[in-house]
Amino acid sequence: MRAKLGQHFLVDEGVLAYEAKCADARSNSVLEIGAGDGRLTARLLSCGAGHVTAVEFDPKLARQLRMRFAAYKRVRVHEGDFLEYDEKARFGRVVGNIPYYITSPILLKLSRMNFDKAVLCMQKEVAARMMAEPGSHEYGRLSVFSQLTYRAETLALVERAAFSPPPKVDSCIVSLVKTGFLLTGCEERAIGAIFSHKKKSVKNAVVDARWDLFGSRDRQSAGQIAQTLKYNGRKVFSLSPSEALGVARQLCAARMQDE
Ligand code: SAH
Repeated sequence: MRAKLGQHFLVDEGVLAYEAKCADARSNSVLEIGAGDGRLTARLLSCGAGHVTAVEFDPKLARQLRMRFAAYKRVRVHEGDFLEYDEKARFGRVVGNIPYYITSPILLKLSRMNFDKAVLCMQKEVAARMMAEPGSHEYGRLSVFSQLTYRAETLALVERAAFSPPPKVDSCIVSLVKTGFLLTGCEERAIGAIFSHKKKSVKNAVVDARWDLFGSRDRQSAGQIAQTLKYNGRKVFSLSPSEALGVARQLCAARMQDE
C-alpha cells in the first residue's frame, strides 16, 4: 500500500454501490480518476456504464486493472498521472475516490475538461471549504474558485472506517456540474494571492501579496494600485465569489498595464 499516493480503498460495499448509483453512469462514457484495483470500476460497469477510461498512476495497480478488465472492450486503462492526462474527449461522467493530496489540482484540471457531471469522494473538510459561505472560517480561495466554476452538492458523508486502510479524515461524496464560467490563469492566481492574506483588508492584502501579484513591484506602487480597487477597505474573507472576481480582474488589468 503506497500511502503517499493516497491509496485508501473503499471496502464498504454499500458505499461503493451508492457512489456508482449517484454517478448514474448508464450508457455514459465515464472517466475514473485513481481506479486503484478496479472495485469502483466494476460497479460502474455493472450499472451499465457505456465506456470507462480508468486512470491510475501506480504501475502495479494499472497492471492489475489491465488484467482484471482484459475481457472488457468497454474499459481502457490509462497508466499515468491524472494531472498530466491530456484528453480532449467529452465524458458524460467523471467519477472517483480521488487521491486527497491532489484534490485542489484535480478540481482545477477538471474545470478545463469537458464533462456533464462529476461524482467524487473527497475529504470532508475540503468539501466544506468548497461550499463555505463568505465570512465563515472555511471560506477561502478554494470556495471562490469552486463556487464560480461548479454547482456543487454534498450527496453523502462517508466515514473513515469505510476505507482500508482508514484515512485520518472522514469523506464526502460530492456531485459537481460546471457553471460554464472559467477563470483565467491570471484571475485564479490573483484570487489565490489575496486570499493568502484573507484576514486583512483588500488594500493591505494586495500590498502584502505584491510579489505574487506584480513580481518585483515596490510597496508604494502596490499601495497606489490597491487604492484604486473596488472594495479595498473590506476584509478579503468577506468578499463574495463575484466580488473577489471583480478585484482579481482589476488586478490582472493593472498587471497588464505594467508589462
Ligand atoms: N478507486 C479505488 C482506489 C481509490 S484510492 C477505490 O475506490 O478503492 C486513490 C487511487 O488514486 C489509488 O489507486 C492511487 O494509486 C491513485 N492515484 C494517486 N495519485 C494519482 C494520480 N496523480 N493520478 C492518477 N491516480 C492516482
